[in-house]
Amino acid sequence: MTRAHVGLGSNLGDRMAILDTAVRVLDADELTHVMAVSRVYETAPVGGPEQGPYLNAVAVLETDRSPHELLELLLATEDGLGRARSERWGPRTVDLDLLLYDGPPVETPELTVPHPRARERAFVLVPLCDADPFATFPDGELAAAALARLGPVTGVVPVGELQP
Ligand code: ATP
Ligand code: CA
Ligand code: CA
Repeated sequence: MTRAHVGLGSNLGDRMAILDTAVRVLDADELTHVMAVSRVYETAPVGGPEQGPYLNAVAVLETDRSPHELLELLLATEDGLGRARSERWGPRTVDLDLLLYDGPPVETPELTVPHPRARERAFVLVPLCDADPFATFPDGELAAAALARLGPVTGVVPVGELQP
């Protein structure tokens, strides 16, 4: 089993129920267990068009799937929850990003791990540190240290919890 961290986001529909369902779908995969989930944070949209606020969370997984198999599972789960793909960084019912996967970095056309923008995003790092205070990037930097480097956090507010 390998540890992996998945970022979840939603800014369309019943956002909390959608995140909850996404966690359940991942846990239902026979090769994947959800070990922990962060609190749920309401966050201001970053980049993209004018759009409503997100709910974001992070799930800590143990999985026997490879990074690419895990990406397939994430994309299939997005499809199953009715994600439509339109403009980049536009509003979406659900977004599932593979943030970290223990082991060497992955760099292929369809998958980059660690997620290339994770360290710049408070809406990723705050729930990541909440779910796993020892989450670490492959170069040894703690997610908590990356978060501290960003400076004061605004627009990331805890609003609830999901059941693991
Ligand atoms: P961002 O990547 O900046 O968070 P986004 O989540 O809105 O933007 P998507 O449209 O959801 O981007 O994803 C586009 C593609 O990114 C996916 O189809 C996938 O092939 C690719 N991708 C590359 N690395 C990752 C990763 N670590 N996690 C999820 N998708 C990834
Ligand atoms: Ca994303
Ligand atoms: Ca994505």
